[in-house]
Amino acid sequence: MGRTSKDKRDVYYRLAKENGWRARSAFKLLQLDEEFNLFQGVKRAVDLCAAPGSWSQVLSQKIGGQSSGQVVAVDLQAMAPLPGVIQIQGDITKLSTAKEIIQHFEGCPADLVVCDGAPDVTGLHDVDDYMQAQLLLAALNIATHVLKLGGCFVAKIFRGRDVTLLYSQLRIFFSSVLCAKPKSSRNSSIEAFAVCQGYDPPEGFIPDLTRPLLDHSYDFNELHGPARFIVPFVACGDLSAYDSDCSYPLDLEDGSEYKYTPPTQPPIAPPYQEACKLKKNGQLAKESLPKECSINKVDNLPQ
Ligand code: SAM
Repeated sequence: MGRTSKDKRDVYYRLAKENGWRARSAFKLLQLDEEFNLFQGVKRAVDLCAAPGSWSQVLSQKIGGQSSGQVVAVDLQAMAPLPGVIQIQGDITKLSTAKEIIQHFEGCPADLVVCDGAPDVTGLHDVDDYMQAQLLLAALNIATHVLKLGGCFVAKIFRGRDVTLLYSQLRIFFSSVLCAKPKSSRNSSIEAFAVCQGYDPPEGFIPDLTRPLLDHSYDFNELHGPARFIVPFVACGDLSAYDSDCSYPLDLEDGSEYKYTPPTQPPIAPPYQEACKLKKNGQLAKESLPKECSINKVDNLPQ
């Protein structure tokens, strides 16, 4: 796909490869930092759902250089090594992962937890929205195990059906919650980032990874008064930065011709690898409709 379409047209995808970032998402974290100074004074950071690792690259560059700065990256997928980043191949919904993170920090809590997690997209809007909300809550849950008081949590959020409930839940744990949209995140996408500062759990709160936080029996649209928390929305990234929804010309400004740049770090074992191999060898089974079904389809065509 890269050589012909996305690679040539998406400016952040192009810039990521030219600048050695593993994914275009790097710009989202950089633009969030421009707005919120996320890395100031941070010594220990956790990158949840980190593969292929562009956010970890940013973290290791921004805080890894400081004396005793440590970055721990977690993902279900294997990730190519990165200097200054400790990797855990694990699930963020598991208590064992929280314990492993703390172990790497020798018992000290993290100053910053970031999560750019995304479940595999199904294309069914409601399902994807629900899964994303669950992943954000899983990230919040694990953050409550590893984050220091006053610490900061940044996570991808879909501004979908459950967003009001999500904000209200985040607000229980943080003194400040904002919704930020970096310039490199497409306007056409419902993706944004919850920037939660000042970790301050309710008194007596005991972190518990076994409890799902999103309760659908609760009609959050009925929330009123202080229970309905409306978060400020902040667009971030320099106003002169590229607009990620635009297609960019193939002729470069200096008149030179566009040249293909290979990805900085292709995924090690992406979930679609097996399917690609089967397709290449013509072994990918094609779905065949039952006979009567295809006849009906033809019969039903408008005359
Ligand atoms: N921030 C990354 C970067 O800059 O390279 C990109 C993250 S990618 C959009 C989303 C990642 O979430 C995938 O690599 C996926 O494996 C991971 N993920 C999804 N569910 C997860 C889970 N339960 N535990 C750990 N990682 C998970």
